[in-house]
Amino acid sequence: MIVVLLGAPGAGKGTLAGALKDQLGAHHISTGDLIRAEIKAGSPIGLEIKRYVESGGLVPDEVVTKMIAETVKKTAQDKKGYMFDGFPRTSSQAADLDKVLKDYGLSIDFALYMEASLAVVLKRLTGRRVCRKCGALYHMTNMLPKKAGVCDKCGGELYQRTDDNEETIKKRMSVYNESTRPIIDFYKRQGKLKTINADLEAGEVKQALLKILNEQRH
Ligand code: AMP
Repeated sequence: MIVVLLGAPGAGKGTLAGALKDQLGAHHISTGDLIRAEIKAGSPIGLEIKRYVESGGLVPDEVVTKMIAETVKKTAQDKKGYMFDGFPRTSSQAADLDKVLKDYGLSIDFALYMEASLAVVLKRLTGRRVCRKCGALYHMTNMLPKKAGVCDKCGGELYQRTDDNEETIKKRMSVYNESTRPIIDFYKRQGKLKTINADLEAGEVKQALLKILNEQRH
């Protein structure tokens, strides 16, 4: 199964993919995670793209598409499928993803638009905490770790992403509205768009996706 998770920052794409990747056995590919790993490693590409992430802008299409192409190249043979999270983010990336997959005889089954209200996403982003070691996601009000500041899964330290501050969030939202929202129509035109209410809490959103997957199989 190849699924694209679409939605504003804070819609819950990473949380949903994290909750389902083991169950579905699909690769969870988050370009945000790939980009943060490059920045953390201090690689030449990491140094080049840091400024885009810190300002809440988008990393250039060609850089992100190359990351995706390399990841698909390494994994396409295992036929596990994918959950793309945070990619595509522009119309040009959406067209590139179709091309990359086509090279391996693959195509997207559907794009899941996680529709969330502004108030909900703002609350989620400002309270979000991430494990420095394994990337697991937490929230200061509704997904607290058992021990403050420590990841339940691996014991890693929890931190707040530098781009999860009010000013950068505003920029990310306007970038989303301008560059990413149009992709919803791209998938609608392909007849591949499914929409779920992402204001619901994580468990309900997960059930909604499982229901769609079930319908797809029958
Ligand atoms: P995320 O973890 O998905 O919220 O992404 C964090 C940041 O990484 C974004 O604000 C962008 O600066 C960058 N980024 C992630 N995915 C993409 C993408 N597909 N295209 C361009 N920039 C991206």
